[in-house]
Amino acid sequence: MASSCLSFNASVSPNHDLFRRHPSSPLLRHRPVLISCTSPADGNNTTTPIETITKPRRTENTIRDDARLQRSTAANPFSARYVPFNAPPGSSEQYSLDEIVYRSRSGGLLDVEHDMEALKRFDGAYWRDLFDSRVGKSTWPYGSGVWSKKEWVLPEIDDDDIVSAFEGNSNLFWAERFGKKFLGMNDLWVKHCGISHTGSFKDLGMTVLVSQVNRLRKMKRPVVGVGCASTGDTSAALSAYCASAGIPSIVFLPANKISMAQLVQPIANGAFVLSIDTDFDGCMKLIREITAELPIYLANSLNSLRLEGQKTAAIEILQQFDWQVPDWVIVPGGNLGNIYAFYKGFKMCQELGLVDRIPRMVCAQAANANPLYLHYKSGWKDFKPMTASTTFASAIQIGDPVSIDRAVYALKKCDGIVEEATEEELMDAMAQADSTGMFICPHTGVALTALFKLRNRGVIAPTDRTFYNKLSSKV
Ligand SMILES: *Cc1c(COP(=O)(O)O)cnc(C)c1O
Repeated sequence: MASSCLSFNASVSPNHDLFRRHPSSPLLRHRPVLISCTSPADGNNTTTPIETITKPRRTENTIRDDARLQRSTAANPFSARYVPFNAPPGSSEQYSLDEIVYRSRSGGLLDVEHDMEALKRFDGAYWRDLFDSRVGKSTWPYGSGVWSKKEWVLPEIDDDDIVSAFEGNSNLFWAERFGKKFLGMNDLWVKHCGISHTGSFKDLGMTVLVSQVNRLRKMKRPVVGVGCASTGDTSAALSAYCASAGIPSIVFLPANKISMAQLVQPIANGAFVLSIDTDFDGCMKLIREITAELPIYLANSLNSLRLEGQKTAAIEILQQFDWQVPDWVIVPGGNLGNIYAFYKGFKMCQELGLVDRIPRMVCAQAANANPLYLHYKSGWKDFKPMTASTTFASAIQIGDPVSIDRAVYALKKCDGIVEEATEEELMDAMAQADSTGMFICPHTGVALTALFKLRNRGVIAPTDRTFYNKLSSKV
């Protein structure tokens, strides 16, 4: 077994030589980070500090206090609001982000619209440098891959209200052997969004939503708790972020349709868990009724705040590639919020001059839950929700996707494609990927099947720089 390395914050005893080195500054303590390695070769579980990194700080200050001290007194030039999604020109309907509203007056979806003119006062190079300068630091709240783009996410929230586990900044790696062996590709990459606090990319959206709820509660808005319907990963993320902020959470899960790993998380985090004898779409209907009647905030991706966090994964892909634009990005889709979030992230980078184009995107669905695929195949003619059948890719077993309009919009704008994967195809793709050391989840198997099909048809060329998203680390 490989040795495991842990890093953790620990206080050091006063006679530690760190203190002796700075006897003249009693108010200054050091923030010690002990990086310790335990390996079976040690023979026991004692930890051996191999390195100690310190940074001067005031004894009584937390990183939140440090952020407060650094806060600029200049007025914040950036803002955002809710508008109807894809509103007709001339529409004046808009809402403050501090209002509790999920749908437009006509019942349509909402979108978070940023004051792009204010953002455009700074050029692309400014934003690239700013975002790059924040990566990998422990500065509150910028140590998070989401909040390092705060001006583009929730520009007006006070740093003090943010609830974050420093999510994001997820690994990006080259699928060298898999690309060469099975696809004849030399520039195939994996964005592993599942390397995250609760093990899925849902953390990216949830930090934004729970932070805003935290703000609303401090403003004495009537929010007694936060609720969601979930195929598993959303409830894990919601319950963890709520628990971390001390906010009650309630989750509706379809009975016997989620993995044990996903069920354990909300229970352990102290959420009120209801296992209901229906499918995801049935749970979604119930939570919408309950959040309409009771002061419980709706955390599903119908809520456009989630997408503001999720779009940062797209910005990160560009950033990790030194702001070069890939040719293709493949995303598995269920409720279809994420495919739009990726589009939005790429599009903002183009509009604000960080890059000059956007990639083409592929949305991959399980053949057992493929309403978007059928809609695409019909030439976007008429959309028909369906009853999804069981699939190993349980997080995308959704027949009536909430964000259908967002997905269609995104795919049309980026010249996108929709593909599907049967159970056999997705399992084969998983086995092939695993044979090159990938250890992927079934949703990624769906994305890989789409990649196989598009390569075989010659749509994706051997040298196209292509990304696929591994959205969960739970199998
Ligand atoms: C949520 C989820 C998806 C689907 O994202 P949507 O926004 O619902 O389309 C795909 N894979 C995993 C692992 C997920 O948790």
